[in-house]
Amino acid sequence: HSGKSRYRVVAEKLNSVLVDSVKSVPIVVNEKSFVYDAVVTMFIEDVGTLFVVREGGLLEGVLSRKDLLKTTLGSHDIHNLPVKVVMTRMPNVVHTTPEETVWLAAKKIIEHEVDALPVVRKVPLEDGSEGLEVIGRLSKTNITRLFVELGEGY
Ligand code: ADP
Repeated sequence: HSGKSRYRVVAEKLNSVLVDSVKSVPIVVNEKSFVYDAVVTMFIEDVGTLFVVREGGLLEGVLSRKDLLKTTLGSHDIHNLPVKVVMTRMPNVVHTTPEETVWLAAKKIIEHEVDALPVVRKVPLEDGSEGLEVIGRLSKTNITRLFVELGEGY
């Protein structure tokens, strides 16, 4: 094998694995919850990124560790501070779909400098518009796990 053809094998593999096969369960908080609840959920669920949803599991925003840490620097009462105030909100949330390749999703993570993407599917809303239902989570850990599996010759 030349170096090039060996890399091609890896490239083909990475472009054939879909987000659906490596995604995790999404950990979500309701848009009406407070920063305190989000911090507790982050610890209990042992994740670094929470997705904020409204009724129907529809994506409203994202909360990272630093979003929550930052609020503790101000003199906020986190029991009464809604997550909506501190989250990154739609339409600025970078997301992926089950049908997307892991490679493309990983590229989004690098380009947008984030730790995780919500895995979504489009759903029609009553008003005729489209919503994004959160059905999974793709984090750097999922990608690292795949990387390790590839290295083991999976
Ligand atoms: P941390 O803040 O723990 O370093 P991130 O790098 O993921 O974690 O988050 C950095 C910022 O980007 C935060 O303000 C967060 O709300 C936002 N963010 C996280 N994930 C996404 C995403 N998928 N799309 C858009 N913004 C995001």
